[in-house]
Amino acid sequence: VTTTATLTRQRKVEIDTRIAELQHELWRTEYPLANAAESIHLAAEDKKVTAEPDEWGRKPAPKWAKTLAECIALITPAAESASPDEYSRERYALAKYAEIVAQRNKLTDEMHALDEVWREHRWSRFYYVQNQNGHIHEDMYCSTCYATTEYQWLTDLSDQTEAEAVASFGEVLCSVCYPSAPTEWTDGEPHAKKAARDEAAKRKAERTAKKLEKALLPDGSDTVLTATVYGRHWDGSVRQFVEGEYVVTKKITTLAQARTWLREISDARATGSDWTFEREAWSPENEAWVVAAIAAKIDSTPEAVLTEAMDKAAKKAKKDGY
Ligand SMILES: [Zn+2]
Repeated sequence: VTTTATLTRQRKVEIDTRIAELQHELWRTEYPLANAAESIHLAAEDKKVTAEPDEWGRKPAPKWAKTLAECIALITPAAESASPDEYSRERYALAKYAEIVAQRNKLTDEMHALDEVWREHRWSRFYYVQNQNGHIHEDMYCSTCYATTEYQWLTDLSDQTEAEAVASFGEVLCSVCYPSAPTEWTDGEPHAKKAARDEAAKRKAERTAKKLEKALLPDGSDTVLTATVYGRHWDGSVRQFVEGEYVVTKKITTLAQARTWLREISDARATGSDWTFEREAWSPENEAWVVAAIAAKIDSTPEAVLTEAMDKAAKKAKKDGY
């Protein structure tokens, strides 16, 4: 038992942090311990038996017929008499089990020594329950929680006052554990939760701004251009590209899409290709609408936008030999 007249807060935090680590390490030995015990039962040729169903017909889980101590006693002579040069299932099972028990004893000894220091000095400890409306509790036996509640030990907060804990973590003290805490210390939320929400909102706003920057319309909405195309003859010949009439649609969301659409339309007009008009939902109304939208977006005039598009298309057509 360590007896110290005064302990710094830093030392108290270190002690609690170490105890939490030891608890975790102990928990990690539970599965290997159960495995090692099972090996001993098997080495002792123990069998699992299933008890009769109870009066409600529920079948209990199968259990080993012998106790672990009985099995250890049973296999010890074989383990001791085995030749040191040869593999002995009994010796191996006992050694493995003893090794894990020794490891656990070492962990619990250190933990009890540190617990002893706390019992002597009794500094404050804070436990957070992570759920929808999580609170900080004084210990892990709060009446507002269930037996299955998982507590997160906030060892960094050890030795703090209620006010300090609120300042460090958030206004989420449990009003049962801390009856003197004012309401504004109990009805808030963890700082980390608020920070995460603010961060998410910030990222969403950034994404929206980026989307609007590229969007054709100020509110970022999609536009669907539709046009009805009628069957028409090509160069006065009898060949028909379309029979009857049908509706073609084109979704335009971004400025880039609008510019591509206008460029294709201008190219088609410069080369006199009607067929392209039909595919791209062209109509005088649609063209005027897209041109006006681009002009508004880039702070120009519809006339300038259309003239530029047609000039480019004419140059391209000339270059391509139309
Ligand atoms: Zn509580």
